[in-house]
Amino acid sequence: MSQRLANSIALFEQAVRHIPGGVNSPVRAFRGVGGNPVFFKSASGAHLFDEDGNRYIDYVGAWGPMILGHKHPKVVAALHEQLDRGIAYGAPTALEVQLADKICEILPSIESVRLVNSGTEATMSALRLARGCTKRDKVVKFEGCYHGHVDSLLVKAGSGALTLGNPDSAGIPADTAAQTFVLPYNDLDAVEHLFSIHGHEIACLIVEPVAGNMNCVPPVPGFLQGLRDITARHGALLIFDEVMTGFRVGLSGAQGRYGITPDLTTLGKIIGGGLPVGAFGGRKDLMQQLAPLGPVYQAGTMSGNPLAVTAGLVLLEEISAPGFHAALEAKGKRLLEGLTTLAHEAGLPFVTTQVGGMFGLYFNENDRIETFAQVMQSNVARFRTFFHAMLERGVYLAPSAFEAGFICAAHGEADIAATLDAARAAFAASK
Ligand SMILES: *Cc1c(COP(=O)(O)O)cnc(C)c1O
Repeated sequence: MSQRLANSIALFEQAVRHIPGGVNSPVRAFRGVGGNPVFFKSASGAHLFDEDGNRYIDYVGAWGPMILGHKHPKVVAALHEQLDRGIAYGAPTALEVQLADKICEILPSIESVRLVNSGTEATMSALRLARGCTKRDKVVKFEGCYHGHVDSLLVKAGSGALTLGNPDSAGIPADTAAQTFVLPYNDLDAVEHLFSIHGHEIACLIVEPVAGNMNCVPPVPGFLQGLRDITARHGALLIFDEVMTGFRVGLSGAQGRYGITPDLTTLGKIIGGGLPVGAFGGRKDLMQQLAPLGPVYQAGTMSGNPLAVTAGLVLLEEISAPGFHAALEAKGKRLLEGLTTLAHEAGLPFVTTQVGGMFGLYFNENDRIETFAQVMQSNVARFRTFFHAMLERGVYLAPSAFEAGFICAAHGEADIAATLDAARAAFAASK
């Protein structure tokens, strides 16, 4: 095996002894691309450094939170200050009030919000709340959308479940899965049809307003508005899962970008600035059904942890600067245009998608990507070759053909140029 990754290889051998598959989250195991996962030791700005001292330009960004780049000085300084004050109290703090206020200011559809510790917890809790409020049991999701590893949402899910070719997990009772309807993404007719039959049983429809766990698939015009109209007509709640898109495709997420008001929103990733935070929130009348006010129980020992909330607060403050997201988007556009030109020069079918600071790369014959079926026509073998050719040249992409990529504020022009240089050689190697 490669001398370049000698320490990562040794660490992985050690890891598999006491950690299932050697990883604490499946996509990290490189099953989607083959080879040995890279073990990282440090990170700074747009760069990651592995255990062998190799440097990488990072387009994963800890799966989203590192939108400012790694180890942003203001985030680090605020964390040091909070560390000196205390780590956890298990009681209310001024910090969580500030974060709640900030979230509600940025996302007007959220009138009331509760903090949790992960995106999964957020979607799980939002689903329970939707069921408790509507007194209905059924939920609707879309094929290829991933909403965390919640039992009733791990049906035809994306992300690791897709990468592993194992969309339905073992251990989920058939009765639970049977409560979930799964529809094709971007297909409003299918939604209309389902609701015309089952509308009265449906508690909620949950959607990634830009799908980011089957690579990156933007909503077609009218799709999200259609979901808003249909759910409202049938008394079902619309949940935007903005764990990935929130504060990413624009400061106010996909709901701000597309001008849609969901009933409930789930947040994660960016909101914790790299520490474990999630949140769900929305209409006040719904949120007031939560304990201690109402009958829907939800709780968390670590929820609102002062360190995690501190990182989130500083991050949200920084990315609220005017023009922040436009700059991210422009930079991403330059990268994608460069990649597309190089791929086509190499004679490879290649198409990209982009919404704000998130993007998708496809070795795919379609001239645009709007459906799960089109995503599945991607040449995964070619992606694997490309991924490893980029990795060898110091560019770290998500280790799967079915994950979105992320631009961060710390990516400089030199990083973009170096990425394109690497890609020129990597495309040639992928023919
Ligand atoms: C990552 C993600 C989740 C799950 O969040 P975790 O913090 O990994 O539990 C849920 N929904 C979406 C859209 C995601 O991208």
